[in-house]
Amino acid sequence: MKKIIIAIDGPAGSGKSTTAKIAAERLGYVYIDTGAMYRAVTLAWLRAKKELTEDILCKMLDGIHIELKPSENGQRTILNGEDVSDEIRTIEVTKNVSPVSAIGCVREKLVEMQRELGKNGAVVMDGRDIGTIVFPNAELKIFLIASAETRAQRRTLELKNKGIEESIEEIKKQIIERDRYDSSREISPLRKAYDAIEIDTSNLTIEGQVEKVVELALEKINLQ
Ligand code: C5P
Repeated sequence: MKKIIIAIDGPAGSGKSTTAKIAAERLGYVYIDTGAMYRAVTLAWLRAKKELTEDILCKMLDGIHIELKPSENGQRTILNGEDVSDEIRTIEVTKNVSPVSAIGCVREKLVEMQRELGKNGAVVMDGRDIGTIVFPNAELKIFLIASAETRAQRRTLELKNKGIEESIEEIKKQIIERDRYDSSREISPLRKAYDAIEIDTSNLTIEGQVEKVVELALEKINLQ
């Protein structure tokens, strides 16, 4: 069976990671969460307590080693040998990740890693620029969207389940700000690839989203 590359892009909270993870399991593919890589670089920078300049970040990159390891609970993110899968989800990292991700050398390094990880196919990769920059020839490109209200509700619930209380208004503000930053940056902004299939998940259940993606993937796989 042909092993294709499935690129899933979209704004924060549109359902990318949940959909990508389950779809990958059903297809027997590897799920790669590229946002986790940008978050790991952001955590390394926050820990270093340095200013955010291109020069400082580019110098720090040589000492930042990121690994993604599959596990029973999904992908684990390893930063210089330490499992930081939980720490990269804190509000502090979330607030700082967009400016760090907009820096050219950070993107160069991580895009190279992502291309290496996906080069043999059989992957579902989610992010902001997978269908446009990382794998412009991916066999299947999905662009997920959802209303800001729905996305804020999902994130608030996700945080609550982790014991973090934040108001929905505050989360909505942060989501809108992050999307604005990610969409307006000069290098690889968040954008739908011209040949991506857009799916609005506002009124879809997780199962509904997954079914659509798996159906589209199987069509592509069987065509190859
Ligand atoms: O997907 P997640 O919300 O964890 O991504 C965190 C941030 O990482 C995004 O807001 C964006 O700034 C950055 N990112 C990116 N390119 C990707 C994946 C994530 O710039 N491919």
